[in-house]
Amino acid sequence: MATSEADLDVLIDELVTSYPPESTDPVKFLGEQFDRGLAWLHFPEGNGGLGLSPSDQLYVMRKLSKLGAPSAGMRNIIGYGMVAPTIVIHGTEEQKSRFLRPLFTGEEIWCQLFSEPGGGSDLAALRTRAEKDGDEWVVNGQKIWNSGAHYSDYGILVARSDPDAVKHAGLSFFILDMKTPGIEIRPIRQVSGSSHFNEVFFTNVRIPDTMRVGPVGAGWKVALTTLMNERHGMRDAPGPDFNELFSLARQVELEDGMAIDNAAVQEKLAEFYVRSQALKFTKFRGMTALSRGQTPGPESSIIKVVAANKLQDILSYGLDMIGMAGPTMGDSMPVSGIFEEALLYSPALRLAGGTDEIMKNIIAERVLGLPQDPRVDKGVPWRDVPTGPRTGKG
Ligand SMILES: Cc1cc2nc3c(=O)[nH]c(=O)nc-3n(C[C@H](O)[C@H](O)[C@H](O)COP(=O)(O)OP(=O)(O)OC[C@H]3O[C@@H](n4cnc5c(N)ncnc54)[C@H](O)[C@@H]3O)c2cc1C
Repeated sequence: MATSEADLDVLIDELVTSYPPESTDPVKFLGEQFDRGLAWLHFPEGNGGLGLSPSDQLYVMRKLSKLGAPSAGMRNIIGYGMVAPTIVIHGTEEQKSRFLRPLFTGEEIWCQLFSEPGGGSDLAALRTRAEKDGDEWVVNGQKIWNSGAHYSDYGILVARSDPDAVKHAGLSFFILDMKTPGIEIRPIRQVSGSSHFNEVFFTNVRIPDTMRVGPVGAGWKVALTTLMNERHGMRDAPGPDFNELFSLARQVELEDGMAIDNAAVQEKLAEFYVRSQALKFTKFRGMTALSRGQTPGPESSIIKVVAANKLQDILSYGLDMIGMAGPTMGDSMPVSGIFEEALLYSPALRLAGGTDEIMKNIIAERVLGLPQDPRVDKGVPWRDVPTGPRTGKG
C-alpha cells in the first residue's frame, strides 16, 4: 500500500503513462484511476481508495489536475461529493460495488431528492411517504429544487417511513433509479431562462428494499452525512477570490493613481486577506479532523457561511472598483465579466445546502452550545405535529 507522496507519485506516473489524459477517453481514464485506488484515497481498498488520509486525496487531485486529467467531481458534482461519501459509510457492500465506480467515471449521474415545499430548512419535516409492501417500498409525494434531476440516472431520496415516530426518527434513505415508473420531473424555469432545478413528483414509485441505505428509521442520520459533505464541499466557493481581487487592484487606475496604492483600497484588501486566511486555517482544521477519521461535523457550517459571504463581498467590492475606474479599464474588461457572472450566482450559495440562518443556528447550538430555538415538535409523533395540508397517506 502507498504510504508516502513518493509512493503516490509512482502510482500517478504509472496511470498517466499507461493512459495519457490528453488522448484517453475520460470514462476509461477515470475507471483506471478508480481501479488503482486513486479516486478517493481515504475510501477503503476496492471502493476506489487505499485507506489513506484526505490530505493524500488532495495531493493526488492537485497532481492529476496539473497533468490535465479529467475531473470526476466536475462531471458528477452531487454524486462525487455527496453520494459517494454517504454510500461508503452507510451503504451495503453490494451498493458500494454496484454504484461507486460508474458514479466516479460519470457513466451514472446522481441528483439529491431531499427538499420539499414544506421541508427545506426544516428538512426533517418532509412529507414524502415510503410505505413497505413486501420486499419493496411504495413512494408518494413531492420534492423540489432538485438540481439536475432531469438528466440524472440515480437519486438519493429521504422519505417518511414511519409517521408515528417523532420527526427525525421516522425517515428512511433510499437510492432511486430515476427511470422507475411513477416519477414525473418538471423543470423549473429560472429568471436566466435556463432550468437547473426541478420539481419531482412520485406516484406509487416502487423501490426495492435492497436500495435502502442504512436501517429503516435511520434516514436522518444517513442524510446528515450527505449534508455535512455538501457543506464541507462548499468550502471552495467558486469564483474570484482574494488573489484575483488583489491583481485587479493592480490593474485598476483611479483618479489619484493605481487602486493598489490607495489607502482605502489597501484597508479593504487587508480585511479580505484576514478573512481568507481565517477561512483557510479553519478548512485545515476540518481536514485534520477528516484525516483522523472523523466525519465532517458542525464546523462545516462555519466554513460554508463564511465562504459564501466572503465570496459575495469580494465580488461586489471588485465590481465597485471596476465601476470607479470606468472606461479606463481598457484591456481588463473581461475581468469585469468574470466578477459579474460570479456575483449573479453567489446568492444561491447562501441558500443551497442550508441557508445562512440555519448555518448560524447550527453554529450557535452545536458549536457554541447556546440554548436551542424553541421546538414545538420535540418528542411529538410526526403525525401529531400541526402543519398545512399533507401529501401521501401520512
Ligand atoms: C442553487 C441551489 C441548488 C439546490 N439544489 C438542491 C438539490 O439538488 N436537492 C435538494 O433537495 N435541494 C436543493 N436545493 C434546496 C435547498 O436545500 C433549500 O433551498 C434550502 O435548504 C432552503 O430551503 P427552502 O428553500 O425551503 O427555504 P425555507 O426553509 O422556506 O426558508 C425561507 C427563509 O426562512 C429562513 N428560515 C427558515 N427556518 C429558519 C429558522 N429556524 N431560523 C431562522 N431563519 C429560518 C431561511 O433562512 C430562509 O431565508 C437547492 C437550493 C439552491 C439555492
